[in-house]
Amino acid sequence: QAKAGGRSTICFFDPAMQAALLVRVKLEADLRQALENHQWQLYYQPQVDCVGHFTGVEALLRWQHPERGMVSPGEFIPLLESTGLINEVGEWVIDAACRQLALWATKPQLRELTISVNISPLQFRDSDFLGRLQQIFVRTKAPLERLKLEVTETLFVEARDAARDKILSLKAQGVRFSLDDFGTGYSSLAYLAQLPLDQLKIDQSFVQQVLDSSANAAIVESTIALAKSLHLDVIAEGVETENQKAWLLAHGCHAFQGYLFGRPMPVGEIEAALLAQCS
Ligand code: C2E
Ligand code: MG
Ligand code: MG
Ligand code: MG
Repeated sequence: QAKAGGRSTICFFDPAMQAALLVRVKLEADLRQALENHQWQLYYQPQVDCVGHFTGVEALLRWQHPERGMVSPGEFIPLLESTGLINEVGEWVIDAACRQLALWATKPQLRELTISVNISPLQFRDSDFLGRLQQIFVRTKAPLERLKLEVTETLFVEARDAARDKILSLKAQGVRFSLDDFGTGYSSLAYLAQLPLDQLKIDQSFVQQVLDSSANAAIVESTIALAKSLHLDVIAEGVETENQKAWLLAHGCHAFQGYLFGRPMPVGEIEAALLAQCS
């Protein structure tokens, strides 16, 4: 029974709430273990041009949990963010992607590929972020003009100038920037013109409804037009059907990512798929 009145009135005796809390506490402990035991892995999902040739990949984090199997990022990224562990894991992700780029740079058939890496706003805002990246760049000797960082609109809601400065300093080294999940955030469009971005990524929620909802079709059309007038590349994510692809092509979007072209896969599989395409 919770104390009535007094100073501590928080009640932890709701069984459902307690169970949820326990799951969270366990998951958090597991995450710390995962950091020590290297249970992380990068999967890569192809990005293709209008004729279906692979131009690059997006690196997507996977957690191989000893008991639960593969845990999806939707479940653990928020937890990494709320515990501050995102900086450490995010650094591992960038390092792994840069090592992969350096390796591919030595292989004639793979050297042109780009790797896109998702960056959490918390990680980007960290005062050590640029310093950590610099060390990784020096250590891995990755070709930085093949590295793309995917950021989201949330990053620009506050401290926009600081974010802009960081982007500019990375761009000076060749790194490119893509705005992920475009259209799902809460910020105004005005920031877009002021930011030195390279690519807009149309969110999959719009892409998947493009043939079923005229409102979504209108959003996708205006996103493509906006990208054109701001001289940004545009890529559609979550493309699952030929019809969606045909619609996008007809409306001026020439780069795609989605299950239609390939699921996220381990590095061996992605290399095999890429090499098969070259031969
Ligand atoms: P995102 O960056 O928007 O990545 C695209 C997500 O959509 C991926 O989910 C991908 O597997 C999925 N997807 C791709 N094509 C299709 C499709 O045709 N249909 C459907 N239904 N889904 C598709 P995933 O791998 O579960 O990642 C979810 C989110 O977790 C990512 O969304 C990203 O925000 C975050 N995330 C993943 N890896 C990292 C990472 O290394 N760092 C950070 N900070 N976030 C990450
Ligand atoms: Mg992404
Ligand atoms: Mg996305
Ligand atoms: Mg998404």
